[in-house]
Amino acid sequence: MGDIRILNPPDLGTLIAELRARGYRVMGPTVRGDAIVTGEIRTVSDLPRGRGDTQRPAEYRLTERDDRSFFGFAAPAISSKPVFFPAEEVIWRGRRDHDEGHFTVERDRPDAAPIALLGTRSCDLRAVQIHDKVLAGRMYEDAHYAARREHTFVVAVACGQPAETCFCASMGTGPRPAETNPETGEAAYDLLLTEVLDEHNHHFVMEIGTEHGRQVADAIEAGDGDEHDHARALEITDAAAKRQTRAIDTSTIHGVLRASVESSRWEEIATRCLACTNCTLVCPTCFCTTIQDVSDLAGDEGERHRVWDSCFSEQFSYIHGGPLRGETKSRYRQWITHKLSSWEDQFGMLGCVGCGRCITWCPVGIDIVEEAAELTRMSGLGSGAARS
Ligand code: SF4
Ligand code: SF4
Repeated sequence: MGDIRILNPPDLGTLIAELRARGYRVMGPTVRGDAIVTGEIRTVSDLPRGRGDTQRPAEYRLTERDDRSFFGFAAPAISSKPVFFPAEEVIWRGRRDHDEGHFTVERDRPDAAPIALLGTRSCDLRAVQIHDKVLAGRMYEDAHYAARREHTFVVAVACGQPAETCFCASMGTGPRPAETNPETGEAAYDLLLTEVLDEHNHHFVMEIGTEHGRQVADAIEAGDGDEHDHARALEITDAAAKRQTRAIDTSTIHGVLRASVESSRWEEIATRCLACTNCTLVCPTCFCTTIQDVSDLAGDEGERHRVWDSCFSEQFSYIHGGPLRGETKSRYRQWITHKLSSWEDQFGMLGCVGCGRCITWCPVGIDIVEEAAELTRMSGLGSGAARS
């Protein structure tokens, strides 16, 4: 057990003010329209206090809770992915200089304000670590992503409210975040909050992850906690893990997908899949993009934009004469095989963190857990029992 502090509900506003005073742009869960999304948090009133959610295959409902919890919901509709990896951004701008007779290109610079993630769940924190490896941990770094990720302060939240669609416990990614990033060995968060709310208490057990986190905790004069508080925090996430009914067997799924290349299941899925791309857009780890060039009518000024794309779009696999994956069945096979098998070959970890968003936001309720289970059963490499 590390250093434990206690935050009372009013202290959450003090924490936000302290982070902003230190120059951070605070990003966390907030209500937009009829959903909880990740957005800018300026004051404590921006948090979705007293709001919950219901998530099922093809169903998302924002609900009112009968308590005043701050984090009484599951994965927000929009994860923290766009904070560091926006859906569209300018990579460079160019201008033709008629007098000099040449074309000047300038790289776009992302906003350099450091980000404080507040209320990031374990699944989404793991997704950020995965993007760190994929986008900034290989030979060629995504300079814009790396610039946005620099100096990030993380206030994670241990999840006590999984949705019916969540399966982070089986993926080893939640509901309580690991203390360290498994790839780098660095601390995974600066501060970790567990919300304790019962008829007698409402407070946060705050665990210190880094020296920087300790400085912030000291600055807001967070009270001391003890081993009983820590034990209560662990009880909450243990109970949350036990409430999850979905699971993927990570010990077999890599081989199952390898063995399923010619499975008849792909035809069956294609009768339901709309190739709408929703699952990839809400996924906190999907990172496929395309390039769009725009210019003014005279052709004197131009910009290159990077825009999220999806392996479900027909044009995504287009090369000299036609798409490689012209049929929906091959696009679904590509997506789930990458997530649960070839991502591991490529990056040394699975590409799914069990957040359940692709199940919630698929308009026809295609469920990655059920598909993994059925493919497992059909391959004969496991029981396929993926729901309890
Ligand atoms: S594949 Fe689905 S469950 Fe897995 S991380 Fe992406 S959205 Fe979440
Ligand atoms: S699996 Fe669902 S969300 Fe994904 S492309 Fe098909 S219909 Fe759309």
